[in-house]
Amino acid sequence: MAFIAERLSAIKPSPTISVSQKARELKIAGQDVISLGAGEPDFDTPPHIIEAAKKALDDGYTRYTSVNGIPELQEAIVAKFKRENDLDYSADQVHVSCGGKSVIFNAMMASVDPGDEIIIPAPYWVSYPAIPLFFGGKPVIVDCPAENGFKMTGEQLEAAITPKTKWLIMNSPSNPSGAGYTHDDLKELSDVLVRHDHVWVFTDDIYERLIYDNFKFTAMARVEPGLKDRTLTMNGMSKAYCMTGWRVGYAAGPVELIKAMTKIQSQSISHTAAISQVASVAALNGPQDFIAENNKVFKDRRDLVVSMLNQASGLSCPTPEGAFYVYPSCAGTIGKKTPNGNTISNDEDFVTYILESEGVAAVHGEAFGLSPYFRISYATATELLEEACQRIQRACAALS
Ligand code: GLU
Repeated sequence: MAFIAERLSAIKPSPTISVSQKARELKIAGQDVISLGAGEPDFDTPPHIIEAAKKALDDGYTRYTSVNGIPELQEAIVAKFKRENDLDYSADQVHVSCGGKSVIFNAMMASVDPGDEIIIPAPYWVSYPAIPLFFGGKPVIVDCPAENGFKMTGEQLEAAITPKTKWLIMNSPSNPSGAGYTHDDLKELSDVLVRHDHVWVFTDDIYERLIYDNFKFTAMARVEPGLKDRTLTMNGMSKAYCMTGWRVGYAAGPVELIKAMTKIQSQSISHTAAISQVASVAALNGPQDFIAENNKVFKDRRDLVVSMLNQASGLSCPTPEGAFYVYPSCAGTIGKKTPNGNTISNDEDFVTYILESEGVAAVHGEAFGLSPYFRISYATATELLEEACQRIQRACAALS
């Protein structure tokens, strides 16, 4: 009898984490690798947040907190939803956990029974289909290729809904495509959802502040107030506040669901670190100007990467509205031969080729459920990005 539980057989390790880890190991082994795999800002956590954390230690925030966090953090989250999203939540509708993944884990464990279906537009972040699988959930993947702006239409949503549908998982701006749903795009989806009152909506809004040009972010629960009672609005500190390692994610939604998630957390991780919670209060309530400053840099990098990748033979790269990823198609390289005589048969072969030939680490599109594409994170120093894109251009030019 195998010792490891059968339920793990359907679950693969996170490919985004694996690529970052592989790039780290190659660098330690002395190889010249530029990692565009990791989805985390290269900017440091702003100093006022770090200072708040140092002070938290002196102030004695070294003990357990309540499961959903210190009251100051709950209040800061309630205020954030009001201020930035015009959404009214009370403190008992707020859940705080150890990063976005942990929020998703608690929400899915609290609600998914074996056979329940979870609609996920592809390309999707790798953990959306993986987490429901732990609980016997069935991901229902809806392909949203570049021609549709990587976005799901109302018609596609309608066709995917069955009596077994439990959740729709939304993520705008999207990881990995950077695509952002406009108010009208969301309205098209919510018009479908109002007709199916057994379907709940999980919206991962963690990239909401990382938007460019004139894109305007709208929260799904705001688009259709009738949906708020079956929407879990998730966010976190990692991306906009450059706090990936602090592990703070949060969500707001109906009390019954929050209570169930809290029950789970009380028997699992208890709560996220007290120091991280105090730092998050300082982040949410403190100055926000650095986000716009960071976005200027991200936008310039986005434009640089899109333009350079579009000059690479066989690649085609749309311009995304937000996040810090681009999701170029490598369809024009499929079937070509590398200088070593290997054939590029799919996007995994393509990313393996650019890693082995030029030392550029990226994540293949198959991991995000839509091929043949690959994801590049441009949350990396501009000079390195330029160098990486030159290397990709060279690798593409060497294909025959
Ligand atoms: N969200 C980041 C990414 O997609 C972090 C890695 C992960 O947790 O998947 O790369």
